[in-house]
Amino acid sequence: MYRYMIANFALLTAFLFLFNHLFRRYLMEDHRTLRFKLLIGIMHGCCALLLLLFSYQINETSFIDFRHIVVISSAYFGGLPASLVTALFFVLGRVTLVGTFTPSPASMTPLLSITLAAIGSGIIMQVVKRYRYRWLLSVLLSMTLITIMSLMRGIIKDTYSYLALVGLGGLFAASLIAFFSTTNQLTKQLEHSERKYRSLHALQEAIFQSAVGTAIIAIDWQGQITHANKGTEKMLGYRADELIGKESPLIFHDPNEVEAYGKELSEKIGKPIHGLNVFFYGAAEYVSEGREWSYIRKDGTRITVLLTLSPLLLDGKTVGVIGLAKDISERKKMEEQLKQLSLLDGLTKIANRRFFDEMLKQEWKNAEQNEKGLSLIFFDIDHFKAYNDLYGHQAGDECLRKVTAIAKKTLNHPAATIARYGGEEFTVILPDTSAKRAAQLAEDLRLAVENAAILHNRSWMKNVVTVSIGVSTCNPDANSVPEELIAKADEALYYAKSHGRNRIASYKEISEKAGTLGG
Ligand code: GH3
Ligand code: MG
Ligand code: MG
Repeated sequence: MYRYMIANFALLTAFLFLFNHLFRRYLMEDHRTLRFKLLIGIMHGCCALLLLLFSYQINETSFIDFRHIVVISSAYFGGLPASLVTALFFVLGRVTLVGTFTPSPASMTPLLSITLAAIGSGIIMQVVKRYRYRWLLSVLLSMTLITIMSLMRGIIKDTYSYLALVGLGGLFAASLIAFFSTTNQLTKQLEHSERKYRSLHALQEAIFQSAVGTAIIAIDWQGQITHANKGTEKMLGYRADELIGKESPLIFHDPNEVEAYGKELSEKIGKPIHGLNVFFYGAAEYVSEGREWSYIRKDGTRITVLLTLSPLLLDGKTVGVIGLAKDISERKKMEEQLKQLSLLDGLTKIANRRFFDEMLKQEWKNAEQNEKGLSLIFFDIDHFKAYNDLYGHQAGDECLRKVTAIAKKTLNHPAATIARYGGEEFTVILPDTSAKRAAQLAEDLRLAVENAAILHNRSWMKNVVTVSIGVSTCNPDANSVPEELIAKADEALYYAKSHGRNRIASYKEISEKAGTLGG
């Protein structure tokens, strides 16, 4: 008997192996189609018949084998439909193979037993949730059925051993299937995480390469470039393979800038930082901050980039640095242009009021530090409103441009700043210039405008464009402010206007006159 049972054990094990191997992919899915359940039933039915061939024969109509376990396994994998198919398959097979079927209890009981086991196990698998209990209950049910059938048929002799073997076989099958399902689960998880890893990697690579407007460069702890994307190639003119494996990103950095940043970091961190360490410390200390750098392209040209550094972490340890650089050269150029534009007067292309204010402050400071005199000229076109009225606004604009050109040409002073103060009013800053010299320059200017002979038939004095000029001079010190200089020049201009126009007036003179008159 044991010989047969061992053969049954071996066959059952082989079957479960084969079954798991063939259907692993389907078994890992939660939902099973009816067709698949029926296939499970047929497969198990074949196995049950195979076991029958190696069963132990008690008498003419009684055989002992592991058919009940096969039915339970079928129920486990395919539910009631599968276990019923298995039972049916077995019943038909047995009737065909043994061929001694009569409607006697001896022939009926084994068939009834397997059918009841199939129904019972199918229901148990559906109702009971825990794997262990499902199997335990199903095996117990089969053992009960076997006992009842044996009693009914009066073959008690081998029943105890049979029951023990069925119990053991059941436990064995249950643990084997549990083992398979665990390994299947692990394989599934592994495949899933591998797929996830691969898709993440693909995504990362796609982002890395598609960021064509951004240079992405990674360096390892030794400073060797490990990654450089297409954006880097485009930005720097190097091929990625010319950079990867090279000693450091210092190839395209300006060494002076690196040193300067090193100094800055050294002060913040409190220890000397040079060369490559600038990037490592920079990444660690100021992760999200972008910083402007000059990059030197392969052809030697320079560009300005905004570089963001981040540490590359692996299991919490820094293994390198990744840098994202964006070319901001165009933006810088625009900013520079805009800055210039915002300081220039659109019509005359000379300094505007804003530039004048800044410049005066600066020159004021210089004069104060160097204890030099600072002069200011204010000039205004006479009867310009009338000029506009007569010749039109366009001609007025042209006149403003002409007067500007005359002023630029005439004012023979290396550091003079001519600015349009507003409307038809202009100023000239004259650093290191005495009152006398300033008055002389102003007179030169007045004369030059008059001599330019720009026709002005509505001028009250002459039939040409003229200007009135106010001049002021002072020696800046801690007690005075630039606004005083402006106010005095303005006052002098007003004086020139009210005393006939086409003339110059210097504040010094008018204040002295006022003093004399007052005295
Ligand atoms: P005054 O001799 O007292 O300086 O007389 P004025 O007419 O020149 O003085 P006022 O300040 O009354 O007029 C200045 C005129 O300058 C008024 C305005 O129409 C003209 N003006 C100001 N800016 C511009 C400009 O950009 N283009 C032109 N065409 N005219 C301008
Ligand atoms: Mg005027
Ligand atoms: Mg005016």
